[in-house]
Formats: sequence, structure tokens, C-alpha cells
Amino acid sequence: MNAPNASGWRPAMGEAGDHELPLATASGDKGLALEEKLIFELGRPGTCGVDMDEPAGAVVPGLSKFLRKAAPALPGLSEPETVRHYTRLSRQNYAIDLGPFPLGSCTMKHNPRLNEKVARFPGFADVHPLAPQRTVRGAYEVINELAHWLIELTGMHGVAMTPKAGAHGELCGLLCIKAAIEARGEDRKIILVPESAHGTNPATAAFAGFGVENIPANADGRVDLDALLVRLGPDVAGVMITNPNTCGLFERDMKAISDAVHAAGGYVYCDGANFNAVVGKVRPGDLGIDAMHINLHKTFSTPHGGGGPGSGPVVLSEALSPFGPLPFTAKGKDGVVHLIEEEDAAAYGHSQSFGRMAAFHGQMGMFTRALTYILSHGADGLRQVAEDAVLNANYVLRSLEDVLSAPFAKAGPCMHEALFSDDGLPDGFTTLDIAKGLIDEGFHPMTVYFPLVVHGAMLIEPTETESKDGLDRFITSMRSLAARARNVDPSLKTAPHHAPRRRLDETQAARKPVLTWKEAPAG
Ligand SMILES: *Cc1c(COP(=O)(O)O)cnc(C)c1O
Repeated sequence: MNAPNASGWRPAMGEAGDHELPLATASGDKGLALEEKLIFELGRPGTCGVDMDEPAGAVVPGLSKFLRKAAPALPGLSEPETVRHYTRLSRQNYAIDLGPFPLGSCTMKHNPRLNEKVARFPGFADVHPLAPQRTVRGAYEVINELAHWLIELTGMHGVAMTPKAGAHGELCGLLCIKAAIEARGEDRKIILVPESAHGTNPATAAFAGFGVENIPANADGRVDLDALLVRLGPDVAGVMITNPNTCGLFERDMKAISDAVHAAGGYVYCDGANFNAVVGKVRPGDLGIDAMHINLHKTFSTPHGGGGPGSGPVVLSEALSPFGPLPFTAKGKDGVVHLIEEEDAAAYGHSQSFGRMAAFHGQMGMFTRALTYILSHGADGLRQVAEDAVLNANYVLRSLEDVLSAPFAKAGPCMHEALFSDDGLPDGFTTLDIAKGLIDEGFHPMTVYFPLVVHGAMLIEPTETESKDGLDRFITSMRSLAARARNVDPSLKTAPHHAPRRRLDETQAARKPVLTWKEAPAG
């Protein structure tokens, strides 16, 4: 039972170092911590969840050569067995509805149930992208109203609603910059990106056909303004700057950076993934930003994780708006919101669009949820979101800085996330040990080893939806883990001990994933 299976995972029980744990059970389950086999291992040939008539036997003439020679390799389970299988698997999962996700950079906050209720109204949930315009006016009203709020909150000129994630929004913004530069007849091929940027930034710039150059950070974790100024010139198309940045710090020189980039003929892209920290407090338009994506699935509480779904509208300055993608919504002279496609774009003063980002109009379900969130909070509520998110992060920062090294804490308060490094940990103990220990404590680990500008980064973003009691529980666990590392507790090196699985060979799992199941040879 304890042999590694094909993917290198091991059941937790009975391994060396587990002496303090209860004895193995016959079932493999430990209380409510359930073991579960693959569905193919559970099934029995001939079992089926539904009653079906025997086929009549007649073979359609000419198709007999397609007759199956063997039964399909489907797992044979009854309905209750199938339901239990997936429910048991789901219990091995961690979810935002089970506990906090302190993942820095991800803004994993509570998803209010009101959002879900509204998104499920049939008028929103059942719309089809090809439905005749006159039958889905309400959906266009929602998109247009949300667009209005995003423009208002950011102080920008326009917004492209169709991008389907933050990274897709980055691409949209850079394609606008590219189109604007081409329209000026210039040849600018370089995008400058700070060292601390999210990996999507340089990837997007490269994907959009730009060369990428790094700008260094200064000692307090912000963009080195002097290094940036020196690099600006006629080959630079623009900069991509995250604000607040991925060290959880506000880029105080943002306006000076924008002014200098504009003076040198470039454009300013802002990665707005951290907008949660400043929504209602700071308008990116006032900082000279030309394009910024907003992750609705972060700042505006639409559910995310596991790769989707997302939504990444891009707000645009007056200079870039003419190049934004199609289609878009706009109120016509008849007072009704229309979806504007290519044939009508010129009439709405939008004839320079670079093209499309998606086949249809964007993520309707996310739009509905985000607008519900915005309207239920109101302007004052959104400002409080930012204030509470920042307060919570600073509470975590100040509650842990005496036990973990906090590289930029001396320079002042953080924004919405607190950054620690592995500097203070004793030899042999790493960020990974703290993260794995958190699993035993019943928490999802924080973001680890990002951003790259500090060694062994631990980036903790509590968000505004965690209470003080909840934060205190998390802090108690973190302090205990830091103390175990300080006391060179060997059991921390092999954590997690209480999870369904122990330490995985993550390299092996990423490089050689075992994605198929083969029946064991008979005998
Ligand atoms: C999440 C994130 C992105 C990418 O957004 P996706 O919606 O995941 O594509 C980009 N930059 C930063 C700083 C982020 O946190």
C-alpha cells in the first residue's frame, strides 16, 4: 500500500517519521481524510449506471467493418459509486470556501453569493453570443454599465471588454501600443520591464513581437527611475510596470515615469492585477497610464483558480483608445446600447481598431458577477475594499517581521501583500518547508519563490475578506512554523504529514506527468 505509484505519489500512512500518527486503518481512510483510487481501478466490467435496452442487433449496411471487437474501456460504476468517487476526490481539494488562500499576486478573496445568484438569472446565464441583438439588449446594457464603472474607477478614456484574462489583456494593450506606433510611422521595438514583473509581462511583450529589456529595482524594491531614464530613446515602444508592484509596494515615481516615457515618445502599460490595493483611492489615468488590464477575477471577486475562467478588460488612454479591439458596446442616438462591429465602427469614431481579441464579446458570466460586486459595494464600499486589504496585509507583515525576514519592511508599510524571504531561516530550511508545513496547519500555502527579486520569496496576500480572527489563526501557524525551523525540527523537512499526499517530486511531476492509466497485466 505504501509503494510509490506510477506518478511518484505516496499514500501518507505508515512512512518513516510518522510514529506520532495514529496506526494505519484497514480502509486506508483516516477519519474523514479519505483515500481514493483512480476511477478505472474502481470500475468493474459490465457495470453501468443506467438501464439500457439491448441493441436490436441490426447493423447498418456498409458499416459492419466499424463494429467494435471489444467493449470500450469505460470504468463500470453505478451512479452512487460515481457520485462518491468525485465527491471523495473533491474532499482532497482546498477551496476559498474552506479557508484562506494567502496566495500573493492572486487576490483570492471571497466570492459573494449575491454575484452567483445574479449570474444565474436565466436572462444572463442563457444568452448566446449569436442571439439577435434585439433579444439580448439587457446583456449589452450590463457590459456597457460595467465598462462605464471601469472607466470611472480608473480615470481612463475607454475600455476594451473582450480580453479573457489578465495576460490576454496585456496582449490587447501591447497590440494597441503597436498599432499606435505603426500609425505614427515609427519603428520602436523595445518594451522595458522591471525585474520584479510577473512572468506574463515579458512573455506578452515577446509574443506581441517586441524585444524585452529589464529595468533593475532599487534597494527599496521599486523601479530604479534613473536606470529607466537612461534607457529611454527612439527605439523604446513603452514600459510595462506593475503598480502596486509584485513586492507589494506602490511605485511612487509612477507619474514621473509616465511623463518621461511620453516625452521620449513611448507608451505606458500598467499591469493592473494589483488594483485591489488601490481601487477607489488612486486613478491610474491620473498617473499617466496609457493601458492597464483589470483582472475582474481578482479585484472584482469573480471566482478563479485552476486556470479559469478569467476576464481581463483593458482600460485605455485617449491616445490608445482609437486602436482598441472590436466589438465594443456603445449607446446609440436611439438611447439603446448596441454591439458595434466592424461595419459600424467608423460611425462611432473607431476606424483604427487593430482587430479582435476573441470570437465574441467577452466573458458574460464574469461581467455579470463583477457588476453585481461593484453595485453592491458602491463607490465607498470599493474604497473600503482597498483600505481593508492593505490593513490586513500590514497586520500580517508586522505580526511576522520579527520571526521571518521581511526585506522591504523597513522602508514603510506595504500595500495589499506582504513579502518575506528565506534569509533568516537556519541552514537546510527553505521557503518550501514553511509552505509544506502550512498544509499540515490546514492552510493553502502562500505564493513561493515569486517575485524573483528576493531570495526564497514568500508573498502573502490576505485580501480584505479575512477577519482579524482568521488572520490571527494564520499568523499563529506561521509563527509556529518559523519557530520549528529555528529549532531545526526535522519533521518540518518532511511536511506535510497530515495531507493525503506527502512531498511530491515536483520536477518529475512537471517533466514527466503520468496522464494515462494502463491496466495492470493479469496474474
Ligand atoms: C494574475 C497576474 C497576471 C496575469 O493575469 P491572468 O488573469 O492570470 O492571466 C499578470 N500580472 C500579475 C501581477 C498578476 O498577479
